[in-house]
Amino acid sequence: MPNVSNTNREPTIQIYNTMTRSKERFVPQTPGKVTMYVCGPTVYDLIHIGNARPLIFFDVVRRYLSVFYNVTYVVNFTDVDDKLIRRAEQTGRTVPELAEQNIADFMKDTEALKVSPATLHPRVTESMAEIISFIAELVERGLAYESGGDVYFRTSEFPEYGKLSHQNLEELQYGIRIGIDERKENPQDFVLWKAAKPGEIYWPSPWGEGRPGWHIECSAMARKYLGETIDIHGGGMDLVFPHHECEIAQTESLTGKPFAVYWMHNAFLNFNNEKMSKSIGNVVNARELAKRYKPEAIRMLMLSTHYRNPLNFSEDGLIQAQNGIDRVVNCRNNLKHLLKNVPAEAAGENRTESGGGSAPSPALDGIMEMFHAKMSDDFNTPDAITAVFELVSAANGLMAGTASDIAVLRRIDGMFKQMDEILGILPDETEELLDEEIDRLIAERTEARKAKNFARADEIRDLLAAQGILLEDTPQGIRWRRK
Ligand code: AMP
Ligand code: ZN
Repeated sequence: MPNVSNTNREPTIQIYNTMTRSKERFVPQTPGKVTMYVCGPTVYDLIHIGNARPLIFFDVVRRYLSVFYNVTYVVNFTDVDDKLIRRAEQTGRTVPELAEQNIADFMKDTEALKVSPATLHPRVTESMAEIISFIAELVERGLAYESGGDVYFRTSEFPEYGKLSHQNLEELQYGIRIGIDERKENPQDFVLWKAAKPGEIYWPSPWGEGRPGWHIECSAMARKYLGETIDIHGGGMDLVFPHHECEIAQTESLTGKPFAVYWMHNAFLNFNNEKMSKSIGNVVNARELAKRYKPEAIRMLMLSTHYRNPLNFSEDGLIQAQNGIDRVVNCRNNLKHLLKNVPAEAAGENRTESGGGSAPSPALDGIMEMFHAKMSDDFNTPDAITAVFELVSAANGLMAGTASDIAVLRRIDGMFKQMDEILGILPDETEELLDEEIDRLIAERTEARKAKNFARADEIRDLLAAQGILLEDTPQGIRWRRK
């Protein structure tokens, strides 16, 4: 088990694999390196808060794995498909214009949620040569066939079709009841290449002008950037079938190797007990929400439920999440305040500059171990957050005491930082007000009141209140303290 002073040691991480329906020990194919591919958005509209669930969760998976491994993280953009074509027609724009706009919006909206850009964000339209040659290889090997300008995957050639979603071919055939498509040999065959209709955007190919089907993009881009077998492949659970099942069929029938070693799927974010989705029409745009709530509160809400459980989205939940964050921030502020203002001797510091990071404390060791034990147990973020609150209680207890050991307080400060590098639920410290800034704002408020500029005075009071600073009128003037 890693501890705070030795986080580079390789931990025992367990991951629930959709393929085997069990938790497995995570072992990357190449020691020290991890490859991750998460299916990205179709860029025809803004992302909603349901889409944000996998983006935030897999961001945390990436952050955690990055403590121990060199992680290459790929999130693709589907920048051409039926929805984009339709939306472009409706809005009088071209497909590339629409895609460009929505990719820029995606980058902005995810950054606002403290999700870092992936290592690579490949686009379908920039991977056309690889997609076409992937399809050509499948056709050459008899694994796919051309029919009326379209190309289909021949599922009868891949007996394992259905293994990820744990369905057999017969069940799948039975499941496909609506309108048998004359162009297919078998109803469950799926499209790899679609012939363009008049006026639609197209690329030339050996089968005529057209565009790729959705599933083949991911197989081709994953092979291009990450090789034939990825360590971790992720996405929302609605992608298990057909999308990931089809990706497996395409890649594995060609390479004879597993497409991914670990398959991870997040459950849905629900709104009023229904999956949040554009087709149901109950979406809340991430952008709108980020105007009203802090990104930390949105992340906290997302991570307070285990990723394989459904998450009920509500504004009450966000308010609660923000209250929890405020508790941590106040504790961290008090800690900083103490570290800055208490002279070392008075605080009982009895060691020379050790950095404080390794001050001995079995209680703190236990909290850090719990944090890692929970994170490495299939990314149990709700319990990892509990470890953060245990640290708050420990810190508050120590600070309430008369002779806090400054090295221990420093270690706590470092632990908050370490935990937050993974969860991203605390505001950046630079966003917090420094004592000098508070003094300056209070002086400005006093001046504003003298000048009868009450609007500015109230604005400053609210700003300070939002940071947990309480003002008290005393005969000696205004005093302030942290909540
Ligand atoms: P889509 O825009 O529907 O293609 O979805 C993009 C990603 O967001 C996929 O990984 C989906 O599984 C995921 N996703 C969409 N809606 C939700 C939801 N309500 N809850 C969780 N994940 C979702
Ligand atoms: Zn995909």
